[in-house]
Parts: sequence; C-alpha cells; structure tokens
Amino acid sequence: MKNFDALVVGGGIIGCTLACELRKAGLRVAVVERSEPGTEASIAAAGMLAPHAGPQKRTPFFAVLRRALALYPDFIAEVEEAAGIPTEFKKNGLFYLAFSPEDEAVLAEKLELQLASGIRAEWVLGEEIRRRDPAIGPELRKGIYFPEDCQVDNILLMKAVIQWSRRLGVEWITAAPATEIWLEGERVRGLVSGRERWESPVVINAAGSWANFDRSLPFEIPVKPSRGQILVLQSSDRVPVFKHMLYTRKIYTVSRDDGRLIVGSTVESVGFNKEVTVKGLHKFLRGLLEINPEFLSLPFRECWAGLRPRSKDGLPILGKSPVEGLYLAAGHFRNGILLAPLTARVLTALILNRPPEVDLSPFAWGRFQTREKKISQ
Ligand SMILES: Cc1cc2nc3c(=O)[nH]c(=O)nc-3n(C[C@H](O)[C@H](O)[C@H](O)COP(=O)(O)OP(=O)(O)OC[C@H]3O[C@@H](n4cnc5c(N)ncnc54)[C@H](O)[C@@H]3O)c2cc1C
Repeated sequence: MKNFDALVVGGGIIGCTLACELRKAGLRVAVVERSEPGTEASIAAAGMLAPHAGPQKRTPFFAVLRRALALYPDFIAEVEEAAGIPTEFKKNGLFYLAFSPEDEAVLAEKLELQLASGIRAEWVLGEEIRRRDPAIGPELRKGIYFPEDCQVDNILLMKAVIQWSRRLGVEWITAAPATEIWLEGERVRGLVSGRERWESPVVINAAGSWANFDRSLPFEIPVKPSRGQILVLQSSDRVPVFKHMLYTRKIYTVSRDDGRLIVGSTVESVGFNKEVTVKGLHKFLRGLLEINPEFLSLPFRECWAGLRPRSKDGLPILGKSPVEGLYLAAGHFRNGILLAPLTARVLTALILNRPPEVDLSPFAWGRFQTREKKISQ
C-alpha cells in the first residue's frame, strides 16, 4: 500500500492548486481524482476575478476575496513560468452597464455602498464607455467602472496548474473515485477507493459539489451543486469582442483573445443536472440583445453547464473538520477560481501548524453546528 504525507480528494482548481502548495512545502502529495483532472466546475467557469462588482460589501468574505485578488499576479507568474502555458490573465477592469432609468437607479444604490466600502469605482457616461469598448451598442446610458477587476482563461489556467503539479512531483491517482475516508479511532488514516486504499495522516476534501461523498462520516459537509450555464459565441475576425468584462442586470460577458465571447450565467438548484436549457439560452440572448442587437448574428460556438459547489450559507468551508487529520476545502461557489491560490496557502499553513494569513473563523465547518445549536436553544 502506498503512503503519502497528504492526500487531496478532487483534481479541480482547488485540489490541484493546494496539492502544488503542499508539494512546494516538501510534502509527498497525491491527488485522488474520480475521472480526469480539471473536468468539472473549474473548466465550466467564466474566469472573472471580479470581487468588486459583486454584492459583497464590508464583510470578512469581501476582505478575503480582495486578498485573493492581490495574490493573483504572483500566482500567475509562478504557474505560467513553471508550466510554460500562458493563461490570458489581465487586469482589464469591468463595466457594469445601465440601459434604462431603472438600471441607473439600481446601479446608483450599488455604487454608493461600494464607495462606502472603499472600492475604487466611478460613473462613466455611455459615450465614453463606447469609445473605450466600441462593440457596445448605442442604447447604453452609462455604467460603473471597476478598474481593479481581472480575468483569466480558467481552462488554460487549469491546464497550467495540472502541468505545474506534474513538474513539482505531485502524484496523480486518476479514474479513482474516493468512496470513503479511512478512519482509525478518532483520526484519519487515509483514503479508500473501492478495493484500493492509500495511507496518509492528512486528507483534504476538495471534491467540489461532491464533497459530501462519504455518508458514513460522523458529520455532514453541507455542500450542494448550483448549476451555472454558459453560452459561447465566436467573433468572425477572431479578435476579442470587448476589451473589458461587462456586467448587466441580466448577464455578464468575458472576451477571450481568440474571439470567443463567454456569456453567463444562471444560478440554479437542480441537483447534479448539467443540462443546458432553452430558458438559460433565452436569458443570454435577451441580455446580448440589450448590449448590442448585432451580436445575435455572431456564430454560435458551444454551450455548457457546470456545478458550483455551494455551502448552506454560500461561503466556502475552509479548515479542520471534526475528525483529526481531515481538512475541508469546499463550497467555493461563485469564486473558486479567484479563491484557489489563497485557499491553497491557508490550508497549507494550517496543515503545517502555522498561522493562516487570514482569519478562517467565518469559514470554519463549526459555524453550521453553532447556528443549528442556536436555533434549537
Ligand atoms: C458557469 C460557472 C461560472 C463560474 N464563473 C466563475 C468566475 O468567473 N470566477 C470564479 O472565481 N469562479 C467561477 N465559478 C466557480 C468556480 O468554477 C468554482 O467555485 C470552482 O471551480 C470550484 O473548484 P473545485 O476544485 O472545488 O471544484 P471542481 O472543479 O468541481 O472539482 C472537483 C473535483 O472533484 C472530483 N471529485 C468529485 N468527487 C470525487 C470523489 N469521490 N473522488 C475523487 N474525486 C472526486 C471531480 O471529478 C472534480 O474533478 C463559476 C462556476 C460556474 C459553473
């Protein structure tokens, strides 16, 4: 039987980045992946690294998202250099667009909160936005500009991180669905996949929407799938459609260097169902029509749906579990690409008994238990 210093369950962006960080710290690490690495939510995402336009304000989570974004340039430089794969990371900023007086009123409220939270953001007139991003149609009234938000091609990033992990010497055990966390008394002894088992004093559950795979554990990991659909169009001249990421009240768009236009997304609780629906596509087309009706004549390229891992309160679950040696890196919901490098660093610190760089108490598994106890009191 093989043994390791740490076993990571799940080869998405979270598990893979964490495995690299642990390996860099000198641990013998394996990732146990039920199929192939990087085939689920991490390649279904849009790749926005955009905490500022979102709904979070002065919360501990917002501070964590900002910290995660601050780590990104160095993270990308390290991964690209080690893997030799460019990831289209760019700090191009995001425009939140208003096409009607109602949009303007909603955005004005948003901007007030954002400015109060110290976010860099400003109103820009429609004409000026169209000068900077000429493919937006003439119906635009105005928009808010968030200059600090970034984007990455998460499919390329996933490829690069897998390559990086191989170069670092992370071991991959693929086509191996973990079926059980191997416990001995009160602590972890390793991992079981059908008839196979591997020994390790540390196991990290990074299985995304499937984090609750071992129902025999003495506690529950409250993570469920949240479906997100994506439509991809292709510009005929194969150059980026927009220079910036765009948000409207209906959709968002992210442009790739080869002219693909990523349009998203939906947030749906439909279990482990990854179908793309006409309703989803209808929403995207309505949103595109608003930005510029001419986009409806762009060639269709593909569409897909992925499952975001969503915890009971929408925040990630990071840190120790009630079982000694078993750690959780789950529930990253809408921000897993953004949070991957920070998650890797804080989990590695915890595992090595060092203080993590951010306060993890708002993300501790125990918060659910406390809440339930409070309710029953
Ligand atoms: C449409 C959409 C748009 C998104 N846009 C963004 C965005 O713009 N920015 C952003 O930051 N985030 C975004 N996200 C969220 C982001 O994709 C996720 O938060 C992130 O990918 C979660 O990573 P993960 O590694 O936890 O999960 P996953 O990528 O799902 O990986 C989990 C892995 O675990 C494996 N696994 C499961 N069960 C087992 C088992 N029993 N044994 C072994 N392996 C197992 C799976 O096969 C999979 O490879 C988006 C998501 C979607 C769906």
